Amino acid sequence: MIVGLPKEIKKQEYRVALTPAGCSMIVQQGYKVVVQQGAGEGSGFTDEDYGAAGATIVIEASEVWAAADMIVKVKEPLQEEFEYFREGQILFTYLHLAAVPELAKALTDKRVTAIAYETIQAPNGSLPLLTPMSEVAGRMSVQEGAKYLEAFQGGRGVLLGGVPGVPPAEVIIIGGGIVGTNAAKMALGLGADVVVLEKNGDRMRYLDDVFQGRLRTLMSNPHNIANAVRKADLLIGAVLVPGARAPRLVTEEMVKTMKKGAVIVDVAVDQGGSIETVDRATTHENPIYEKYGVIHYAVANMPGAVPRTSTLALTNVTIDYILQLAAKGFQDTVKSNSMLALGVNTYRGAITHPQVAEAVGLPY
Ligand code: NAD
Repeated sequence: MIVGLPKEIKKQEYRVALTPAGCSMIVQQGYKVVVQQGAGEGSGFTDEDYGAAGATIVIEASEVWAAADMIVKVKEPLQEEFEYFREGQILFTYLHLAAVPELAKALTDKRVTAIAYETIQAPNGSLPLLTPMSEVAGRMSVQEGAKYLEAFQGGRGVLLGGVPGVPPAEVIIIGGGIVGTNAAKMALGLGADVVVLEKNGDRMRYLDDVFQGRLRTLMSNPHNIANAVRKADLLIGAVLVPGARAPRLVTEEMVKTMKKGAVIVDVAVDQGGSIETVDRATTHENPIYEKYGVIHYAVANMPGAVPRTSTLALTNVTIDYILQLAAKGFQDTVKSNSMLALGVNTYRGAITHPQVAEAVGLPY
């Protein structure tokens, strides 16, 4: 098995799908890794690092795709990469195929075996290859919020932790899943007052247990949300309803009641946003806009701002699958690993994931 690591070409994507450490694990098992020159640059890994890990460095993406039995990537292939697809080749990456029917068509036309990180699923329904990115985004949400609360960024000039004799900031988090829990951890660490609004009672019990009374949980309903939003210095949107658009829990009227210079970080913007005044996703180049005196941060790919951490976190959870695929090949891995089997989106010219097939209008 030859594993190929091309450089990511999507705009503002600095992550890479394999670290030198991961590369050496594959090489130690007796397989070959071909790395495109500069692939790790954005995450701070040099060609020399990959060379020392036993990889072969090549110059062009086309050389990687031509050599590899399995391509590992971070983002879905773009149009200019479609020409490299070939029958039977394994592609292991974040695919989000439902959003790009032309990619689904190219993968099925060329009979590529595409395995999507985001549809690999554990028996309890969790998505282990999405978890690390939610952890990153949750932790970042507080860091970004703290920054934009500073006066010279347009914020209300409040320090999250306050100081002795001065109260801390009020951080309101809606949704207490992975993003919400990681945001809570960071906000508490900085000394803020934290309230998490959830609608899942078991999740609230869990948060209450692990944080031992250091945060408050509140049932998520319009009355509680309106009250909490009015008091917020930093409001974090962290809800998810699997398979659906994010529910718009904070109305425009509620945002109008917020303090001038307060900050909203809507992490759920990638699912359409959980706050009515978040009507568009922003970018790292231009991350904020102001509405009703409130700063809105709505970057849809927050982990992109910390590519080194994100790369390390991502490869921590992908490497075992890569090693299994290298050792056993596709057929045997899928037979023995039901979580990975759910990740298979295209195989031998067909779409093999029901929701993806429905979304792109191709047969399943
Ligand atoms: P998760 O499933 O772990 O948590 C979501 C939580 O929302 C659950 O605990 C659920 O009970 C709760 N919830 C659902 N409806 C609710 C409601 N009406 N009121 C209160 N809580 C409600 O999901 P996650 O991994 O934490 O992801 C949260 C969101 O962040 C998702 O939309 C995800 O796509 C997004 N995300 C964005 C980025 C980014 O860069 N912007 C990165 C990672 C994740």
